[in-house]
Amino acid sequence: MLIVMHHKASRKQIDAIIAAVRNMGLKAKPIPGSQRTAIGVLGNKGYIDDLNIRDLPGVKEVIHVTKPYKMVSRDFHPKGTVIKVAHVEIGAGKRPIVIAGPCAVESEHQIVKTALAVKRMGADLLRGGAFKPRTGPHTFQGLEREGLRLLSLAKKKSGLPIVTEVMTPENIALVEEHADVLQVGTRNMQNFDLLKELGRIRKPVLLKRGMSATIEEFLAAAEYICAEGNPNVILCERGIRTFETATRNSLDLSVIPLINELSHLPVIIDPSHATGKRSLVPPMSKAALVAGANGIMVEVHPEPDKALSDGPQSLTIEGFGKMMSEIKSLISFLGF
Ligand code: PEP
Ligand code: MN
Repeated sequence: MLIVMHHKASRKQIDAIIAAVRNMGLKAKPIPGSQRTAIGVLGNKGYIDDLNIRDLPGVKEVIHVTKPYKMVSRDFHPKGTVIKVAHVEIGAGKRPIVIAGPCAVESEHQIVKTALAVKRMGADLLRGGAFKPRTGPHTFQGLEREGLRLLSLAKKKSGLPIVTEVMTPENIALVEEHADVLQVGTRNMQNFDLLKELGRIRKPVLLKRGMSATIEEFLAAAEYICAEGNPNVILCERGIRTFETATRNSLDLSVIPLINELSHLPVIIDPSHATGKRSLVPPMSKAALVAGANGIMVEVHPEPDKALSDGPQSLTIEGFGKMMSEIKSLISFLGF
């Protein structure tokens, strides 16, 4: 429920509403606006009877929010959220960021070489999986602890903050020691126990859209993290399953403006997993930036043909460099 106050409502009237909401055993979240204050009501399990509220002095209207998400909704938080990762800012009004690196950490040589190269070419964050959620159990599953150690080493050498995936609640503490941003992969978008535990930490979470998830389900998954107390969620579109087989997934770029209407959270695009094809990554990265993405995340490998996972969609270091020089002009054309 959202309680919208009259623009002339006094502080005393607003406080009285907050007290009335608390008396109902619910949480009140004041949302000051330039025109008027609204009060978000949280903690209810179903419909709330608004009889005690709607006739109180200063109340303009009571809106029953039927969406399964509230804290991530623009209704509750009209201003776009900006998330800080070390010195990098991600979100509304900020220069779009670039996250780059291999699908998986494979060796010290591979991750350090990639980190130094992408840093030199202008990447803001380094990605690389240590725990890999592979479709089948007979493929490379990641270097796990050793992979995390190598990521920390690459961070030390390059200065780039780290994005890496966490697959289970049990591993959050371990991954958090090395990661600046914890990634939730497409296969875990509705792993609610994992989401709730990530809501109890403070580090930013990069939440990937489930491969068959609707936007409402995507935002409801983000709500699980925010509702537990961690407001630092970055949404990532990585392509969805459709009838098309020419690309690995179908990149749904409409989520960028759509989520911008529905939510205040930053949205980034992963064109590597969306297309599965290296040659499609630069054009779709540019399209994402034009559509208003707050950033892109791309896979880069020094020898994609030898990669232990996702080689066909990984850019070479030279390919990444070429894309970055094109993207830099686009970003300045876009006014950043
Ligand atoms: C990844 O980023 O390497 C990954 C496994 O992504 P997704 O969960 O989108 O498939
Ligand atoms: Mn991958």
